[in-house]
Amino acid sequence: MTGVKVTGVDADGVQLSDGRRLTTATLVWTAGARAHPLAATLPGEHDRLGRLAVDACLRAPGAPGVFVTGDVARAAADEFGHDALMSCQHALSLGRVAGYNAAAELLGLPLHAYRQPKYVTCLDLGPWGAVFTEGWDRKVQLRGADAKALKRDINTKWIYPPTDRATAFELGAPDHVIVA
Ligand SMILES: Cc1cc2nc3c(=O)[nH]c(=O)nc-3n(C[C@H](O)[C@H](O)[C@H](O)COP(=O)(O)OP(=O)(O)OC[C@H]3O[C@@H](n4cnc5c(N)ncnc54)[C@H](O)[C@@H]3O)c2cc1C
Repeated sequence: MTGVKVTGVDADGVQLSDGRRLTTATLVWTAGARAHPLAATLPGEHDRLGRLAVDACLRAPGAPGVFVTGDVARAAADEFGHDALMSCQHALSLGRVAGYNAAAELLGLPLHAYRQPKYVTCLDLGPWGAVFTEGWDRKVQLRGADAKALKRDINTKWIYPPTDRATAFELGAPDHVIVA
């Protein structure tokens, strides 16, 4: 369908901008993602996704005292030219480092440089199972039921913050590595 946009999605279907409605239980989203428009209000270099280029400590170069993190930050993940992606995997580590650095700067402590050389993917392919890859060249390490079990752990455990204070502080350390 051309010349028409999706204006709403709910459990039973998709609403279109011309008033039509498609009834469906399944939706495949392929539109990609863009940084929140708030990122555009900060001075500096923005990439094609609207993310602000930050320095190694996740500071906004043109806005002193501002740290940028998660989906709105274009941050180098390693020294080989890989940038953090708009993903939970990167947002978790970026958040740790930005939060730590915001506090460290206020306290006059050394800042922590963000670095996340390890990159993995875990793609759920439905009842067949999933595929887990490691590295930027996406080498398959697990497939089928084994990868699916890992995907379930990610979606039901890993992405949720801990509820107790001690574990939260432990996992909030800026150099904490989720996947070794
Ligand atoms: C449908 C979908 C599926 C995804 N699936 C995956 C996946 O399988 N694996 C993966 O790795 N990543 C996935 N992602 C990407 C992942 O969710 C994001 O990369 C990650 O959530 C980014 O974290 P963040 O903290 O930067 O931003 P968010 O999680 O978007 O958090 C930003 C928060 O800021 C709040 N906010 C916005 N504006 C303001 C304001 N003006 N004032 C105060 N608060 C504000 C928002 O309400 C939100 O709570 C998916 C994203 C989408 C949309």
